[in-house]
Amino acid sequence: MKVLDGRKKQVFRKGEAPFEFDCEKQSLAGSVSQRACVFCGSRVVLYPIADAVHLVHGPAGCAAYTWDIRGALSSGPELHRLSFSTDLREYEVIHGGEPKLYQALIQLIERYRPEAVFVYGTCIVGVIGDDLEAVCKKVSALKGIPVIPVHSEGFKGTKKDGYKAACAALMQLIGRGPTDGISKYSVNILGDYNLAGEIWIIKDYYRRMGVEVVAGITGDGRVKEIERAHGAALNLVQCSGSMNYLAKLMKEKYGIHSLQVSYFGIEDMAEALYGVARFFKDAEMMKRTQELVSGEIRAVYPKLLEYRKALAGKKAAVYVGGAFKAFSLVKALRLLGMETVVVGSQTGSKQDYALLKELCDDGTIIVDDSNPVELSHFIREKNVSLFIGGVKERPIAYKLGIGFCDHNHERKIALAGFVGMLNFAAEVYQSVMSPVWQFTPRYMQSETRGDVHDECSRTVCP
Ligand code: SF4
Repeated sequence: MKVLDGRKKQVFRKGEAPFEFDCEKQSLAGSVSQRACVFCGSRVVLYPIADAVHLVHGPAGCAAYTWDIRGALSSGPELHRLSFSTDLREYEVIHGGEPKLYQALIQLIERYRPEAVFVYGTCIVGVIGDDLEAVCKKVSALKGIPVIPVHSEGFKGTKKDGYKAACAALMQLIGRGPTDGISKYSVNILGDYNLAGEIWIIKDYYRRMGVEVVAGITGDGRVKEIERAHGAALNLVQCSGSMNYLAKLMKEKYGIHSLQVSYFGIEDMAEALYGVARFFKDAEMMKRTQELVSGEIRAVYPKLLEYRKALAGKKAAVYVGGAFKAFSLVKALRLLGMETVVVGSQTGSKQDYALLKELCDDGTIIVDDSNPVELSHFIREKNVSLFIGGVKERPIAYKLGIGFCDHNHERKIALAGFVGMLNFAAEVYQSVMSPVWQFTPRYMQSETRGDVHDECSRTVCP
């Protein structure tokens, strides 16, 4: 397979050439990138705020594309699971969509009584030039709640620009609430989206350490909590792609320090807790953290070793949204005795890829903003048994006849925390070792059967 000329510098094979890597650029036309649009980027970041109305100003298709496709859970209201759209048509494209937006906002606020409204601009809104800012301001003054425009016209950049638009919208909420009564040992959790209830696991760890969580941004998010987020002493940034920008804005405006953390895998989970204890320089808290970490590891480690016995030597490919998650996955797979031979992300920075290069073994293929043709080829070439990705990568794995693990926002099993590592190992084991693969065409040399089938028929696989 030939990598497109314009993408050659976005693919790197460790050990074969000096590290010259290109990333953070618009997808190449014709490459059929796995990336989503700017609007989708902002929508997924704000989606878990459960007591807000999310109104997509655009054609119904944009709203349908992001309607309840993510597994972000709420412990209370579930307004976020609805997808409202102004359903713009030819008439509005010619005469403007502002009156329809105004009407929709008034009706939705009166009917659902939300704490806030996010109004997402889509491609067509950018083309016809509706003034979102003016309409939102007018309705906000009339109804007395924040009505926040999200400038996320799909065509105007990459998915990462959508993250930035979401962070800019969040900054309009942060700072509006009172901060009295907040502990000096307090944090905001940035970039955990409470998939399958993961933020509840993490919050419980911090509670046991004696740390107050002021706001989940945006997992199990509430408007009033986010409005108080500027009162926290520390920001913990998990999803680097989406939330580094918010941490930077909060540092500039409120002087809040931030720590980069990951809640995936034993090593990174423990470090996420120790990092907080070190930051607060409290001996008692450190002691509690050590007890927590050793107790949790003791509970999961024997079982992890059993999975490791079965999985040792298998090869994995990882393709995820943000590169920081890829670091944790490489380490977690190593703990299970597996080697990551292909790794990439949609939104990684040069610094992220340099770190990934250091972490991976020689021969690993590192790729930015990839497409299905490239990924399928690399998986075949490297004789991969497991593909870890999201909803768009799942069909690639199944068509190739290999195991798949969903590590994106659609997952239904909590993979964060120590217990999440055990769930991850179980998921990997069940997928890789499933007997179903003997009935599918397999395109590569089988590690278990030791033979090579190129598009073999179902009957030849023993
Ligand atoms: S690319 Fe434009 S039209 Fe397509 S979903 Fe995104 S905002 Fe909507």
